[in-house]
Amino acid sequence: MSEWFLLLLPLAAASGWWAALRGSQRSGGGGAPDPAYFRGLNYLLDDQPDKAIDVFVKLAEMDSETAEVQLALGGLFRRRGEVDRAIRIHQGLMARQDLPKALRALALQELALDYMRAGLLDRAERLFEELTQFRDQRRRALLSLIDIYQQEKDWRRCLETADRLQSFLGEPMGVAMAHYHCELAEEALRLGDDEGAAAALRDALATDAGCVRATLLQARLALDRGEADRAIHLFQRVGDQGPRFLPEILPGLLEAFRGRPPSDLLETLRALHRAHPNGALLLALADAVERIEGRPPAIRLLVEHVRGHADLAAVERLLELRELPLAAEGAEALEMLRALSRVVRHLRSHQPRYRCDHCGYVARRLHWQCPGCKHWASIHPVEASTLAERPANGSV
Ligand SMILES: [Zn+2]
Repeated sequence: MSEWFLLLLPLAAASGWWAALRGSQRSGGGGAPDPAYFRGLNYLLDDQPDKAIDVFVKLAEMDSETAEVQLALGGLFRRRGEVDRAIRIHQGLMARQDLPKALRALALQELALDYMRAGLLDRAERLFEELTQFRDQRRRALLSLIDIYQQEKDWRRCLETADRLQSFLGEPMGVAMAHYHCELAEEALRLGDDEGAAAALRDALATDAGCVRATLLQARLALDRGEADRAIHLFQRVGDQGPRFLPEILPGLLEAFRGRPPSDLLETLRALHRAHPNGALLLALADAVERIEGRPPAIRLLVEHVRGHADLAAVERLLELRELPLAAEGAEALEMLRALSRVVRHLRSHQPRYRCDHCGYVARRLHWQCPGCKHWASIHPVEASTLAERPANGSV
């Protein structure tokens, strides 16, 4: 079905446009609907918004009293990027004294969306706040207010508004609220206020005990204070909170073990990988094994992993580890290995490193809020896919 029609449907349904189409009631007029309504609707269904707009513009000229037509037209203009025209239409509607309360609320909502689209956030904010007084519009208005405060990085107002959504409408907001506390913690860290940051992180974990970001920040704070034991303990907690984020602990974990016996790091990595198998952990483990136990056991570990996983990073490391022994077999063997390494490096450089579970957005680094769909904590490090067992009879 046409995307345009789907976009317009909630507006149409809410505004009684459907009722108008069925010929029951129209604001500012009575009787059967103009056949042009159906023509406009058909254009929307056929995904021809330009023709639909022509029809609605003519209808609006002939019948300037019908608020539903004006609303439909204004919405179409905004979605086509003609925000000024949308604003003029919706402001005209708002100026009318005879508009029923429900249609007035709809016009107010449309105008607020116009302002938001135009980047006039303070005007949009005022209108959305007014809309929270209307029961039917409250949820959407509060969500839009959160959207505005997130754009303005006003995390305290994000928290207040999310709390209103949660307490009035029962909308679970724990995950997002924990990230607002984390944002406040990062602001405090930038100002050198470690105590303020620590307090904000405690608030984040009280709101959402599974907030990996808060634990990673706590670990970073501990490292900066020279509390390596506490940092190691916190990094290990990430395994229980969100094992998919384990690759993120590695730089800090290696830093926390600096100056300690390498076997301590090896044991910790081994235990973590046993509890939460993960490609990035395995690579770090193979490095530690190579340093302490030598090259052959590290190679065995990587070969075992690559047997079950299409993990290019592990293949690349394996080829590096094999380079020295292969050099003894002559120039041809070495050249082949280097060519393979180049191919693997090329393929790796085109692989996504992070991806959003919710919308598929691909990123080079970790974003706690997805730039695509604005969800919190939906972007994860991409794991190598598991290889299926090869059929025993060799059939395809
Ligand atoms: Zn996303």
